[in-house]
Amino acid sequence: MTDAQMNGFDTLQVHAGTEPDPATGARQVPIYQTTAYVFKDADHAARLFNLEEVGYIYSRLTNPTVGALANRICALEGGAGAVCTSSGHAAQIMALYPLMMPGCNIVASTRLYGGTYTQFTQVFKRFGWSCTFVDFDDTAAVEAAIDDNTRAIFCESIANPGGYITDLDAIAAIADKAGLPLVVDNTSASPYLCQPIAHGATLVVHSTTKYLTGNGTVTGGAIVDSGKFDWSASGKFPSLSEPEPAYHGINFHGALGAMAFTFHSIAIGLRDLGMTMNPQAAHYTLMGIETLSLRMQKHTTNAQKVAEWLEGHDKVERVTYAGLTSSPYHDRGKRICPRGTGGLFTVTLAGGYDACVGLVNNLKLFSHVANLGDTRSLIIHSASTTHRQLSDEQRAAAGAASNVVRLSIGIEDADDIIADLKQALAAV
Ligand code: PLP
Repeated sequence: MTDAQMNGFDTLQVHAGTEPDPATGARQVPIYQTTAYVFKDADHAARLFNLEEVGYIYSRLTNPTVGALANRICALEGGAGAVCTSSGHAAQIMALYPLMMPGCNIVASTRLYGGTYTQFTQVFKRFGWSCTFVDFDDTAAVEAAIDDNTRAIFCESIANPGGYITDLDAIAAIADKAGLPLVVDNTSASPYLCQPIAHGATLVVHSTTKYLTGNGTVTGGAIVDSGKFDWSASGKFPSLSEPEPAYHGINFHGALGAMAFTFHSIAIGLRDLGMTMNPQAAHYTLMGIETLSLRMQKHTTNAQKVAEWLEGHDKVERVTYAGLTSSPYHDRGKRICPRGTGGLFTVTLAGGYDACVGLVNNLKLFSHVANLGDTRSLIIHSASTTHRQLSDEQRAAAGAASNVVRLSIGIEDADDIIADLKQALAAV
């Protein structure tokens, strides 16, 4: 059965992008622990380097285990092509690299993972890039922030840490009108809960470290290209639409059409930036992804129960879970994430900073870690950790003020999760 004949998400997450190993018949995807691949002869090598034939050259560029994962994620997101990277942060830089030149900017949502905020403000400067941050609920402000040097619009589908839902359809309409690609970080939702390409995204990025792997074992990232953006239309993306000196003058869009971005990311992005996923990491993520839908269902039902319980607690001021009818994002959540709004949200405690620290210190089942999307329930005080480098104002805009803790609800029994929160809240 080919990928095109498989329609159901549960089937794709187990089978897409892989076949029994042609050399051995191995049913599970082997870990191809190799750096290089023997060329058949000099002509074969030349054809591979010229992109006239697709095959393996060197594992900084492509590797069969990593390629299997890229194909699997591509199928789950409904894309045309995908590339895996060494981390989610690497995926973000790799997604923007083909689009940007010094002097270019992106327009991004204020509601982002703190590390992304720092990457977009600090790392960007060294590349001569910049970022304008805007409240993406204010679509007029998003439109107004776009100028002649803007090359992409960036947001998270479900934003970390607040669990806010971005109106992807509305933002995609603005991006379309401006002739710009929309890049969506779909880490917190996973393709089971949200498929940004169906809502108009051009590129989807992931930290596969989170729900896609799901067991807290390896870092990784992915970029999925919808294959739908016309890179040649505006003249703003010369690396894709004009002869590229970094790859002996190839015009990627002219030569490769819908696969232009993916081939560019491999032939230039991975070759020159080297942010490559290793085959061991791809193996762990392939193992995790097989149960993605089952885990996401449990994360979501657990999060709903826990959020409802927390909302009724007298030491809790606010719970941001979009599954709650009190959330301003409740209706939008049903449209953007029809299968549920995930396992991530924040809780504002009436006792402020001290109560947050007390809660974190008294929990026993929850792990206090800088991660999300694990099978285990996790907690962190974002303001003093993941969002530490931000100003008070930026933290508040990102939903990470000092009286707020972030919960990533795991797949344990909801009653046990609630019991742990109950005893810890009693102690603060
Ligand atoms: N995007 C989101 C939403 C994240 O939460 C994170 C990490 O927490 C990243 C990207 C970065 O991913 P990684 O840690 O794999 O580099």
